[in-house]
Amino acid sequence: MKKLLIFCSIILTTSLFANTLNDGKRIIVLDPGHGGVDGGVKKDDYQEKDIVLEISKLIKSRNPYKDTEFIILRNTDEQISNENRAKIIKSYEPDLVISIHVNSNIKSTVKGLEALVSPMNPCFEDSKLIAEKINKNLISLGFENLGTKESNTKILRDSSAPTVMIHIGHLSNNEDKAIVTNPKNYNTIADQILAALE
Ligand SMILES: [Zn+2]
Repeated sequence: MKKLLIFCSIILTTSLFANTLNDGKRIIVLDPGHGGVDGGVKKDDYQEKDIVLEISKLIKSRNPYKDTEFIILRNTDEQISNENRAKIIKSYEPDLVISIHVNSNIKSTVKGLEALVSPMNPCFEDSKLIAEKINKNLISLGFENLGTKESNTKILRDSSAPTVMIHIGHLSNNEDKAIVTNPKNYNTIADQILAALE
């Protein structure tokens, strides 16, 4: 286990073992959640699938790292099963996977950022570290931080690279909704996520 963790750390901090098919670049797969008939969480006219796609595109277009290539799992409003998502992610042999979501809760008072990582992922510790960094950076937008929690959902568990699922606030909470549905915040959200990947 220890060996695996060290291996994961090396992959993340240098491009030494990065996919050689891509000029030795660090490959980061962005997985905008949901799509197609699966809109994810909804509030008023807002749908999670649209918000996370917009933010994913900005992360890719604002990428400041010359040694890093971002691949967006879906570039359009299409539905991909979790089974296929996991398969596609594997095919890229990524160094990191970030699945991007927005949360919802039946209690409208529940608000804040929440990240999920899987203890069954061989890069669990690295995943946790990155998740915590992303949450910490996104606080600057006015979110509370509910922290990093464990989940064994397929995408997190099946990946052999560090994999995090982030939730950028709760659409069911008015304060979070005001932040995450305002496109003026999207460049900052993208930049704060990027800054966590240095
Ligand atoms: Zn979601």
